[in-house]
Amino acid sequence: MRILEQMEKLGYEQLCLFTDPNVSLRAFICIHDTTLGPALGGLRIWKYGTEEEALTDVMRLARAMTYKSAAAGLSLGGGKAVIIADPYQGKSEAMMRAIGRCVESLNGRYITTEDVGANAKDLEYIAQETSHLVGLPLSQGGSGDTAPMTGFGVVTGMKACAKEVWGDDSLAGRTIAIQGFGKVASETAKLLIKEDAKLIVADINSQAIEESRKLPEVQIVSPDEIYDTQCDIFCPCALGGTLNGTTIPKLKCSIVAGGANNQLLAPADAHTLQDRHILYAPDYIINAGGVINASLEIGQTYDSKVSEEKTSQIYYTMEHVIWRSKREDITTATAADRLAEERIKSAAKGRNIYLGSSSG
Ligand code: NAD
Repeated sequence: MRILEQMEKLGYEQLCLFTDPNVSLRAFICIHDTTLGPALGGLRIWKYGTEEEALTDVMRLARAMTYKSAAAGLSLGGGKAVIIADPYQGKSEAMMRAIGRCVESLNGRYITTEDVGANAKDLEYIAQETSHLVGLPLSQGGSGDTAPMTGFGVVTGMKACAKEVWGDDSLAGRTIAIQGFGKVASETAKLLIKEDAKLIVADINSQAIEESRKLPEVQIVSPDEIYDTQCDIFCPCALGGTLNGTTIPKLKCSIVAGGANNQLLAPADAHTLQDRHILYAPDYIINAGGVINASLEIGQTYDSKVSEEKTSQIYYTMEHVIWRSKREDITTATAADRLAEERIKSAAKGRNIYLGSSSG
């Protein structure tokens, strides 16, 4: 009963549970809101400690996707899928094809793509069972990996924040502490190096750390140390909830701007950051590059130039969010939420207008 109450309170439309013991599939798909269009959001594969953890994650992530697409001006709603499994040892082709069939059963209300723990190969297996997916390689008619454009958007958003804090949007000489060094972080890091920024990296996975060592002059610290590290920008690129009552007091930065979804554990954490005079770039505002990129293969021929152009608009959206937070004396997180909620509300009103019949 508490789940239904929570769904009603926060506007969730649908929550689906799937199991297939033959292929060790245990999964949730959550559709938050489809006012603006079909619910798009990636598939996360993670070794959650409990079912409740997975359920909380999929619901929070689905809702964040609604807000992300709304704020980015896309005709998409928000959804997400999670599989409870070890992303390194627990995946199989059969499991991916099974989740593909689950996605297919939703008749296009949910469109999937990659997220943490999933990769291009997984997506290829899923594509054998459903056409409701985006992000296949360009060679297969898709828009490719979402991570490069996500990284570009993150750096673009960082620059808007730098302009606000230091009066200049150059990141040259700035120290960026990156938490998590997966797909999004490595793309972000490549661009930051081009900007002449200095990087400090932490990851819980030794393979990821080895990857980061391939970059020039990267300092590595432990996953615990990253919070205390003196830096200009703290860049969360791991899982959600890493900014909370325990970690925020440790931060030694002027800006938080990263690619991870749901960085704040609770809404109050936005106030704690503001009280500490740390400018927070709302996660779904600056990590929207991936969904912008993927949206451009739906009903049209994908064009990478259009994707880059649209993603570069994140600079102005971030500027607007900062401006609004100051004008209305609210946190940047609340300013972003208002931007997204207003768009959904106005689209919902438009649904009452009868558009006529396309046939005859
Ligand atoms: P990924 O799986 O490639 O990378 C995540 C990395 O974080 C892994 O290397 C993992 O070991 C590390 N990690 C996990 N917990 C950690 C911790 N406590 N401390 C340090 N490192 C930790 O995933 P990704 O696609 O790069 O996504 C990263 C984040 O960005 C996620 O929150 C995801 O939802 C979000 N995101 C991704 C995209 C995309 O295009 N892939 C788009 C928008 C948002």
